Amino acid sequence: MNIPESTLPRVVIVGGGFAGVRLVKTLANKNVQVVLIDKHNYHTFQPLLYQVSSSGLEPDSIAYPLRKIIKAHKTTFFRLAEVERIQPEEKRIKTSIGSIQYDYLVLATGTKTNFFGNDAIKTHSMPMKSVPQALNIRSLILQNFEKAAIANTKQEREAFLNFVIVGGGPTGVELAGAIAELKNNILPRDYRDLNRQDMHIHLLEGANRVLPPMSEHASKQAEKFLTELGVNVHCNTFVKDYDGLHVKTNTTLEFQSETLIWAAGVTGAPIHGLKANSLIEKSNRYSVNNFNQVEGYDSIFAIGDIALMTTDAYPNGHPQVAQPAIQQGKLLGENILRHIQQKPLQPFSYKDKGSMATIGRNKAVVDLKHFKFGGFFAWFVWMFIHLMSLVGFRNRVIVFFNWTYNYINFDKAARLIIRPFKK
Ligand SMILES: Cc1cc2nc3c(=O)[nH]c(=O)nc-3n(C[C@H](O)[C@H](O)[C@H](O)COP(=O)(O)OP(=O)(O)OC[C@H]3O[C@@H](n4cnc5c(N)ncnc54)[C@H](O)[C@@H]3O)c2cc1C
Repeated sequence: MNIPESTLPRVVIVGGGFAGVRLVKTLANKNVQVVLIDKHNYHTFQPLLYQVSSSGLEPDSIAYPLRKIIKAHKTTFFRLAEVERIQPEEKRIKTSIGSIQYDYLVLATGTKTNFFGNDAIKTHSMPMKSVPQALNIRSLILQNFEKAAIANTKQEREAFLNFVIVGGGPTGVELAGAIAELKNNILPRDYRDLNRQDMHIHLLEGANRVLPPMSEHASKQAEKFLTELGVNVHCNTFVKDYDGLHVKTNTTLEFQSETLIWAAGVTGAPIHGLKANSLIEKSNRYSVNNFNQVEGYDSIFAIGDIALMTTDAYPNGHPQVAQPAIQQGKLLGENILRHIQQKPLQPFSYKDKGSMATIGRNKAVVDLKHFKFGGFFAWFVWMFIHLMSLVGFRNRVIVFFNWTYNYINFDKAARLIIRPFKK
């Protein structure tokens, strides 16, 4: 892999997501050699993927080159590769471009889409976990509008204009709101040959309320906002089958839809090679102690979504969101430096900064520890936090400009079918 030999301890980090990037920054220019490996050459800001899917933002404003993050880190290297296997006995990993030894190995591989074993849904639905997948959804939505404009029958047209989103968590709710804005603001202007009333957005949630991880207050407000935007919310409903056109649910509800977007859950993305008991099978997450050490190993750590640390406050592990990943990345960096200096490690303690979701322009819900609110102020807070959390000054400026332009003009400017999606 062409990494120079060094007398410094080598920390190999797999995954340049929220956790991996925070760890890389904490170890920057310290007495360690860092090798960051990712199968993409960029960091993805997943919370804004839905805006790429719904033509609100260009993909390059929510992605950031990993090499640019490390450009001033003298002892850090990046390699574009997929890690295929861990060989813990030799302290080595095998990747798509060769093998590399480690002194410390950090697994920060995040999650992948969970189809709950349903192959039909896996084959025909649209997941939204990466930039290419978000672009696929963008293309499909716009292609459907074009096809609807020339459809011969009402039934055919409605199948192109029925958008079914499965999963009423923050991702599903935000995407449903954004697609509703396309219907309300873009369709009447750009697609005068289509009747807005023919377009339907259905949001399906298996639990009895949307945003199940948030407060009841947030759920109620979010459902109200969605309904006002024209989204049909179906709780206690889950998809049983989808063949690319017919959507069957656990109830009598059925749709004909060319588009089923799957935002119903994730499962860990572990790498082969560790002992069976280091992985919690149900969630595919590595079992870690409160120093993020993977069970059964001294020098292998897992952080972020892939790590499952049980505590009294979080018996099922921390929520799979950005904050635990960032906080674990920072602490692990400090702990690795402590370990090298033979100092005691600090245990991880999660500081919950709250959760939020936005539902179209001017509307959001925010749950803080002692304060829950919704509406315009919540939307403003949501925008500010997301803007400030983006990696890179250029991305912040571009996103701010886009949001301002779109807000003033009721527009979504990235309505381009650059790479048509083939079903
Ligand atoms: C659509 C969507 C919306 C979300 N919205 C929010 C939100 O609003 N707020 C919030 O807090 N959280 C949100 N999340 C969750 C949040 O993005 C995750 O919790 C966070 O990304 C976890 O960080 P991580 O570093 O553990 O993993 P990730 O950020 O997923 O990074 C994992 C990295 O590992 C790489 N990788 C994986 N396997 C390999 C391999 N074998 N070899 C090489 N590289 C590999 C991947 O390419 C990726 O870069 C959202 C997630 C999604 C999908």
